[in-house]
Amino acid sequence: MSILIENLSTLQNVIYIISSMLFITGIKMLGKEDTAVRGNFLSALAMFIAVSITLVNVVNPLIIIIGISVGAILGSVIALKVKMTSIPEMVALFNGFGGLATFFIAWSEYSTTPENYFQYILIMLTTFIGGVTFTGSIVAYGKLSERLTIKKTSLITKLFTTIFYVSLFYLIYSAFFTDIFEPNFDFYLILIILTLLGGIGFVLPIGGGDMPVVISLLNSFSGIAAAFAGLMLLNNVLIVAGSLVGASGLILTIIMAKAMNRSIGNILFVGYAASSSGSKSEETGEVKPINVSDAFLILENASSVLIVPGYGMAVAQAQHVVRELGELLEANGTEVKYGIHPVAGRMPGHMNVLLAEANVPYDVLVEPDDVNPTMDSVDVTVVIGANDVVNPSATEEPGSPIYGMPIIEVHNSRTVFVLKRSMSSGFAGVQNPLFFKENTRMLFGDAKESIGGLVSEFKE
Ligand code: NDP
Repeated sequence: MSILIENLSTLQNVIYIISSMLFITGIKMLGKEDTAVRGNFLSALAMFIAVSITLVNVVNPLIIIIGISVGAILGSVIALKVKMTSIPEMVALFNGFGGLATFFIAWSEYSTTPENYFQYILIMLTTFIGGVTFTGSIVAYGKLSERLTIKKTSLITKLFTTIFYVSLFYLIYSAFFTDIFEPNFDFYLILIILTLLGGIGFVLPIGGGDMPVVISLLNSFSGIAAAFAGLMLLNNVLIVAGSLVGASGLILTIIMAKAMNRSIGNILFVGYAASSSGSKSEETGEVKPINVSDAFLILENASSVLIVPGYGMAVAQAQHVVRELGELLEANGTEVKYGIHPVAGRMPGHMNVLLAEANVPYDVLVEPDDVNPTMDSVDVTVVIGANDVVNPSATEEPGSPIYGMPIIEVHNSRTVFVLKRSMSSGFAGVQNPLFFKENTRMLFGDAKESIGGLVSEFKE
């Protein structure tokens, strides 16, 4: 019997290693558009294999199978129904439940009395990170979906933020000074309560617009909590999967912060609102509107066109008509490229995903560094619902809150068409001098309708 159990545990560990290799291969495949779907499937399969082999020596597998089935059905329904622009909200909820799962694991491990100090520290850390991730993610979801409108300067926010710092202090105190607690004093219950309330206080003071970065950070937290839970349970696959999520979430957070030219500290503790006070941007010059027919005449004669999509293209769901316009321009002998900024839209790779959905070939997508040096040779840039990522203040106005953020320098092309509905600012809340430049023409209206109009003109 004992040989069987030993062999089973070896077999489990071998399968865990295979699953881990599949995770890593799957994640690597996510980096390319044509392998991404298979990569996603491979990682999901690896998780299925890892969970299945874990079930083999579980006392009551039925209850776990029921849990997995309910979770799988709910998760699939939500994922199938969610709109592309709401994916960050869905990710927030999923992170939150990941945090909650590890929080429960830590709680149950605490109830079985930790065997040594290392185990005890792991339980405390997992409880804290898992709990903060859970309530923090729920607040992030509420803010992003605009269901939660508590102001960052309000009294409630200040109260919860204070609780967050108290919970952090309590965690450190209870981790290192365990002997100070009275025998019947339930300090762990207090940690649980402080942690859950503290998670709310961690996210409440951060501006709604910064939520995508916070969600990526919470994603990393959920991975770290899972890795700690893996150490607690001595489960290798949980350690590997948790570390992968923790590291990739953190890398993504750093990439996003860098592409916005902001530090993580500025995002968590200051926000755009505070830093935008230094902006000197004012409306200067004349706005020159253009209509669809005139825009068509210019495009028809252009030999090179750069399409620059942004958040507005996602809102308008214009990606399919944009691809159609690109094809018509190419059929007309025009060279067409798509300028993709790393933080265009509201989630990393947002534009790549939308354009891939519309079957725009990957090799016509170019990054700012590739296209900026030759921008003056581009006849027309068509800016579709992008604003901050083409704002010249980032390179020309040292006082601007977005100064230093890399942009696609469309203002250096011969003619710029900006497709948007009004003169309102973008995500960063700063005015865009591009709209007033000599070579800019504003094509006002919903992006899908404006591009649809251009497509019809080409077809006639
Ligand atoms: P912006 O948010 O700067 O601007 C989007 C523009 O789209 C708006 O000015 C809006 O103008 C226009 N718009 C909205 N709806 C429509 C529509 N239906 N038709 C036409 N236009 C429309 O977008 P960008 O993509 O340029 O910049 C992204 C911003 O988000 C950056 O500041 C970035 O730092 C930030 N960010 C990005 C993250 C990411 O991972 N990608 C994460 C967090 C933040 P109007 O209302 O006048 O139509």
